[in-house]
Amino acid sequence: MNRKEFLLTGCRFVAGAAFMLMGGYLLHDKIDTDNTSSGCSRSGVCRGCGAVNKCSRAEALSYKRVTGKES
Ligand code: SF4
Repeated sequence: MNRKEFLLTGCRFVAGAAFMLMGGYLLHDKIDTDNTSSGCSRSGVCRGCGAVNKCSRAEALSYKRVTGKES
């Protein structure tokens, strides 16, 4: 493997990893958004949940009231 092949392989690896991370992030965000209507897979631990701004569950309303994040 020469230097050019090594750099190309490295670039492909980095691009592939970036696409996988981006896909995982988008999928995780969608799963959290779906939880607002059908249930909560985080056991009501709202801190750090990506759906807290849109969620209307009692746990989320309490979290927003206590932390002053109500709109
Ligand atoms: S904001 Fe809270 S209650 Fe709503 S989905 Fe997230 S963790 Fe569950």
